[in-house]
Amino acid sequence: MADLSLFSNEQIAALLSALPDPAFILTRSGRYAAIFGGTDSRYYHDGSGLVGKSLTDVLQPQKATWFQAQIAVALAAQGLHVVEYTLAADDVKGVGDDGPAEPIWFEGRVQPLGYPVLGEDAVLWVASNITASKKLEALLRMQSETDALTGLPNRRKLIGGLTEHFELFVRYRTPTSVLIFDIDYFKGINDEYGHMAGDKAIMVTAEVCRHALRAADFPARLGGDEFVVLMPHTGIEPALAIAERLRIKIAEALREPGTLGRGATISGGLSEMSAGDASYEDVLKRADDALYRAKRDGRNRIVRH
Ligand code: GH3
Ligand code: MG
Repeated sequence: MADLSLFSNEQIAALLSALPDPAFILTRSGRYAAIFGGTDSRYYHDGSGLVGKSLTDVLQPQKATWFQAQIAVALAAQGLHVVEYTLAADDVKGVGDDGPAEPIWFEGRVQPLGYPVLGEDAVLWVASNITASKKLEALLRMQSETDALTGLPNRRKLIGGLTEHFELFVRYRTPTSVLIFDIDYFKGINDEYGHMAGDKAIMVTAEVCRHALRAADFPARLGGDEFVVLMPHTGIEPALAIAERLRIKIAEALREPGTLGRGATISGGLSEMSAGDASYEDVLKRADDALYRAKRDGRNRIVRH
């Protein structure tokens, strides 16, 4: 604890107003009793006009209720309560078109005060702008889940999707199919036309997946020349029709002039989630076994398990 006798009242007031992050004294009922600091003008609007107002004067009802609930949590816990939240122009009354174009992310540190203010329990609410780190976090998450060559979801993202849809299947028995497919004789394409042409074939295949599938379908690149399409709300019969259409469209696209001289085909294995499955791995394994049979039976075909 600082020895406050070292400072005059004016100096303490100057210190508080020099704090970069704004610190609000808010009462339990949501009144702004005081505001200190907030000098970091890169991030904050001037909050001095808030003193004497209430959360409900300043914020839309839903946001105001949320703020009040957080104050109550901090007071009940009698300790620091940390929250993250966004404020957009339309959350704040009277801001209209003058507000920030995008929502701003804040981290709020809400600390109960040990004494009443304006006759009520009160907290100190310090708000830091964390928009930059939130944006970076979202970008890194997106990159960690995206295949760099094709822009499709990668294996990590696919496993997330499979896990989620397996849980839905277990709970609601929603029919869900999984197709795994692989370009035929892809090693030969690399050898004959070069690695760059191989990459192009992978990109063209991904492009067809993006356009030929329905919005609810979830194509992903597993790695190499292998792809998986997760088809939620789709039993094996309609899934087979989708897979066949995809097989034909990919072969057409790979036959387009300038893509690959002699074109290429795909083989696929298809299965659906079933009652005896312990995890998504079981359906993926069945689809992979079916893919193996499609290869063995002559390629350029979809085999269902
Ligand atoms: P099959 O018909 O049995 O599938 O034969 P295949 O030649 O396609 O055999 P396989 O699927 O095992 O071969 C995959 C090849 O893909 C092996 C590897 O050299 C190549 N490969 C993996 N990743 C990439 C990539 O990102 N770009 C390119 N150009 N080639 C890749
Ligand atoms: Mg292959």
